Amino acid sequence: MAAKQKILIVEDEQTIAELIQLHLSKECYDVKIVPDGEQALQEFHLFHPNLILLDLMLPGMDGYQVCREIRHFSDIPIIMISAKDETFDKVLGLELGADDYIIKPFEPKELVARVRAVLRRFQIRPNTASNGEKCVTYTDLTINLTNYSVTYYDQPVEMPPKELELLYFLASSPNQVFTREQLLDHIWGYEYMGDTRTVDVHIKRLRGKIKDHQDWALATVWGIGYKFEVKGKP
Ligand code: CA
Repeated sequence: MAAKQKILIVEDEQTIAELIQLHLSKECYDVKIVPDGEQALQEFHLFHPNLILLDLMLPGMDGYQVCREIRHFSDIPIIMISAKDETFDKVLGLELGADDYIIKPFEPKELVARVRAVLRRFQIRPNTASNGEKCVTYTDLTINLTNYSVTYYDQPVEMPPKELELLYFLASSPNQVFTREQLLDHIWGYEYMGDTRTVDVHIKRLRGKIKDHQDWALATVWGIGYKFEVKGKP
C-alpha cells in the first residue's frame, strides 16, 4: 500500500480546522494544521504535504499572499477556502495558481471529494520537484534532468544525455505535439548539422528502453512528429 498522502490545513479557526482534519483523517490522509501563513511556509518544507487547504482570511499574510509565496517554489495542489461573507476573488485565486476553491460553510463530504479530485488531477500531470530540481514524474516513470537519471518501474535506466533530454522535453509538455524540426532545435540546437532522422533514431532507442504504459506513451503523430501522450488527462 502506498504511503498516506499528506494534507496541510492552513486555517486560524480551530474548530473548522479540526472538523476538516477529522473528515480527512477518516479518509486515511495524514493531516497537519497550522494557524497562519508563516507557519504554512515552514511546514511546507518540514511536513512535505501533497496538498494544501488554504484559508483566505488569516492573521498576518492572507491566503492570496501565501499562495503566491508557495508558487515561487512549488506547484503543489492548493485548494483555497473562503467564507461566504468574504468576497473571494476567484479569478485572482486561480491566477495566483490555486487549483480549486471552496466556500464556507461546506459539506465535509464535498471537501473530501474536492481534495480527491484535485489530487487525482495532479497525479497525471508532471510533478515539478519542490527543491527546484528539473524532474517529471508519471506512474512508473521519473525523469530527472538535474542529475540525468531515469527511473522506470523503480529501476534506473541508462541512456545517453540527448535521449534523456528528448524524453524530458516531451514528458514535461504532456500531450503537446512537436515536429521533428522543433525537437531538433530544442535538443540539439540550431547549429547542429544533423537532420530530422536524428530525432527518429533517438525516439526508436527510447522506445527500446521505455515501453508504453497504460497511463502514458511516447506516441508518433503521423505526418507531424511526436508527443508524450498522457491517457485519461482531462
Ligand atoms: Ca480565517
